[in-house]
Amino acid sequence: MSYCVNCGVELQKSEPRCPLCGTEVLNPNELHEEKPIRPYPAHVEHLDKTVDRRYIASFISLLLLIPLFTTMLANILVSKQLTWSYLVIGGELVAFTVFLLPMIARMPKVLYMVIDTVAVCILLLLIRILTQSKWDWLLLLGLPITVLTALMCWFFSLMASPKCRIPVLIRFSFALTCVGLLVVAIEFFIGLYKQAIAWPTWSLYVLFPCLVLSSSLLILNRRARVKEEIRKRFYF
Ligand SMILES: [Zn+2]
Repeated sequence: MSYCVNCGVELQKSEPRCPLCGTEVLNPNELHEEKPIRPYPAHVEHLDKTVDRRYIASFISLLLLIPLFTTMLANILVSKQLTWSYLVIGGELVAFTVFLLPMIARMPKVLYMVIDTVAVCILLLLIRILTQSKWDWLLLLGLPITVLTALMCWFFSLMASPKCRIPVLIRFSFALTCVGLLVVAIEFFIGLYKQAIAWPTWSLYVLFPCLVLSSSLLILNRRARVKEEIRKRFYF
């Protein structure tokens, strides 16, 4: 009886290669036969995991249509026109593009971000139509904050990508700085909306801790021993 030198699986006498890991079997005591009788089925089924995810996502998408049509119908029956169901339409659109679309369609990350941003903008537009409010909150507050948040998410996705060659601690440091700057930008747009642009106040309470943490990460990154320890603990 012999065992694979690589993975340790028990081998039949006739095996020229390990059936599990493919390592060549070199056993001078048991030379393998020309046409070995293999104790395994000739055809092996491979499970395709991507199809399942896609199927489930498509199924959930179809299920989402039920509350959508129910609320639209109820809305029309009660108010004779579409009013509050706009929120359900927009909300479902955002939920679909953010959670289900990545499972159904394969496309570049940038495209996902663009589609998600457009979906959120449509939701904001529907809220504006529903509330019949002025355009200014949408143009000065809703759109810029949505676009900035989308850009930040895109930046995070680049940082989280396995292809990213930047050290992990520096990536976290960049991300923290980004969060701090986003909060400052949000305060700026709120000031713009209120027509009272002033020196940032409350956003600094977020920015400063972010900058302090981010610089500590940069310092940590320079210390190879600590870096190695963090890498081991968090399995980076
Ligand atoms: Zn093996």
